[in-house]
Amino acid sequence: MYSLRFPLAGVLISATLLAQNPPDLKTAPGFDLGAIDRKANPCVDFYQYACGTWLKNNPIPPDQSSWSRFSELDERNQAILRGILEKASTATTRDADNQKIGDYYFSCMDETSIDKKGLQPMQSELDRIHAVKNTRDLSAEIARLHRIGVDVLFNFSSGQDFKDSNAVIGQADQGGLGLPEKDYYFRTDPKAVETRKEYVSHITRMLQLTGVARAGAAKQADAIMRLETALAKASLDITTRRDPQAVYHKMKLAEFEALADSFSWSVYFTALQTPKMESLNVAVPEFFKGEEKLLKTVSMADWNTYLAYHLIDSQAAVLPTQFTDENFAFHGKYLTGAKEQKPRWKRCVRAADGDLGEVLGKAYVDLTFGREGKQRTLDMVNHIEAAMAQDLNTLAWMTPETKKKALEKLHAITNKIGYPDKWRDYSALKIVRGDALGNSLRSNEFEVNRQLQKIGKPVDRTEWQMTPPTVNAYYDPQMNNINFPAGILQPPFFDKQADDAINYGAIGAVIGHELTHGFDDQGRQFDPKGNLNDWWTPADAKAFDQREQCFIDEYAGFELKGGVHMNGKLTLGENTADNGGIRLAWIALMNDLAGKTLPKLGGFDEKQQFYLGFGQIWCTNETPEAERMQAQTDPHAIDRFRVNGTVSNMPEFQKAFGCKDGLPMVRDGNACRTW
Ligand SMILES: [Zn+2]
Repeated sequence: MYSLRFPLAGVLISATLLAQNPPDLKTAPGFDLGAIDRKANPCVDFYQYACGTWLKNNPIPPDQSSWSRFSELDERNQAILRGILEKASTATTRDADNQKIGDYYFSCMDETSIDKKGLQPMQSELDRIHAVKNTRDLSAEIARLHRIGVDVLFNFSSGQDFKDSNAVIGQADQGGLGLPEKDYYFRTDPKAVETRKEYVSHITRMLQLTGVARAGAAKQADAIMRLETALAKASLDITTRRDPQAVYHKMKLAEFEALADSFSWSVYFTALQTPKMESLNVAVPEFFKGEEKLLKTVSMADWNTYLAYHLIDSQAAVLPTQFTDENFAFHGKYLTGAKEQKPRWKRCVRAADGDLGEVLGKAYVDLTFGREGKQRTLDMVNHIEAAMAQDLNTLAWMTPETKKKALEKLHAITNKIGYPDKWRDYSALKIVRGDALGNSLRSNEFEVNRQLQKIGKPVDRTEWQMTPPTVNAYYDPQMNNINFPAGILQPPFFDKQADDAINYGAIGAVIGHELTHGFDDQGRQFDPKGNLNDWWTPADAKAFDQREQCFIDEYAGFELKGGVHMNGKLTLGENTADNGGIRLAWIALMNDLAGKTLPKLGGFDEKQQFYLGFGQIWCTNETPEAERMQAQTDPHAIDRFRVNGTVSNMPEFQKAFGCKDGLPMVRDGNACRTW
């Protein structure tokens, strides 16, 4: 799944609904002339020009690690969801859906009861872990933890077979780390060394909170760090994992089990309750060989501590305040630079969106999203798909043979707009008022089980991987579809009041972005049916790679304060999508305008409006900590590089703003272009 941005939630409010909302829910801010920094030179730093005044006037709130146009929508969305949840939690007569979301939210908010109970609700789970005496017990307990959503030792779930997109098979993958990514365990710069030290201190304090004495806790934390470092060593890094071929190793179940034959796989699969499997995808076989070594060397006492720590840390949000605070101190404050924890209601809204996403999402859609929004978006999608066909037909570097196949793939893409046609059935999930931890664990188990039960069944193409209020979008290469949740179909992305130039620059570029994901370094490896199947002539593949190298070099040149560079390979797919997306939106706008001009706005003509509409969706203030983490873990480049990296590749931008050759926003002879 290739999303537009790192996860956030958001909201769409129709004009009629706004009138009924409390006054603090302002209209979503759309295109904003006041955001522009007219003192900046658009040809030197276009991002500063489009966003400079917004950046100055929108410092990062203390409970956030970044603040952006996405966050503005997200905040409004959360307020809407909060209203839905509060109403459901106090209503006297409720249907099954409202009972679930209402009691879930009420229990999550009831901090007093959670504090009073201490670790008691977790005790039976901890007892199970401490009863583990041998590898057989360990295998059963890992299955139990996987069922309740705790990431330990490795991952097991279901997924479409890369080479047969109609089939859902089991997927075994690396996992079990507490730091964000493999390289966090091995980088040698001072910040990385400090991060590992802080992590060990965090584990120590978490274990102390469970009643372990300081010295013992510190020793156990060291053991956990050693164990995770060994898992990290056997893991594949995020950049290599971008290649679908690198994470596809289909094998017979017995072959898989032999990779780590000290583990009691039959005990594990029975406890996990997976459907019968003949074969499965083992994403990283080497990881399981590494696991085998650990099973032979790590003591049962160390396994116990490792499992207990991850169970506690994963559920910190619904444990007493000391646990929640310690979890925030490391994962929030230290790693992302947020100063304060989010108010409890925001955390509980987020948790409800995560655990009961389509119950809450249905209530949200009923309240906010109309038919009209869906139709207007579809029209735009159609125009941008037509622009892509036109663009493909005129590409000089691609042979007619591959062009024909590319057009077939383009025409096979399905569009999903707003929300699912068929809502998920949560009737088997029990939500109990007053049992916050139980609700969280049962919700995890419900979801894990739902994923596992897909194994051996036909693919459900109607399913969504984002909830309706999410301010984001994605392309799914195995489904060959693009998905736009209701949450992003509103200002500043899509503004009914704005003219076409601004909307094409904003949501148009987003639609184009998702479409071209089907043709980036990963997406192009999948055929129209979503199968990993090479449809390129060798010459075209080579020409493609040459063009992509230009983007790798361009973005690798972007540097954060403190010396961290963008990873040109990790962000390649997203950068290709940004560059291709704005190109397609530009073509579609030129088609629609057909030589006509639009009224000027703030002195800007339609071409300038297009670029400003694009630039302004990315206005973002971010803490240095969050920027560092994004640069090291996220396939999306930092927002200011997404803007400047893109426009500087477009001669049309140079012309629109009359930029002289040689200025930073004019790459001219070095300009990159694939699509
Ligand atoms: Zn993307």
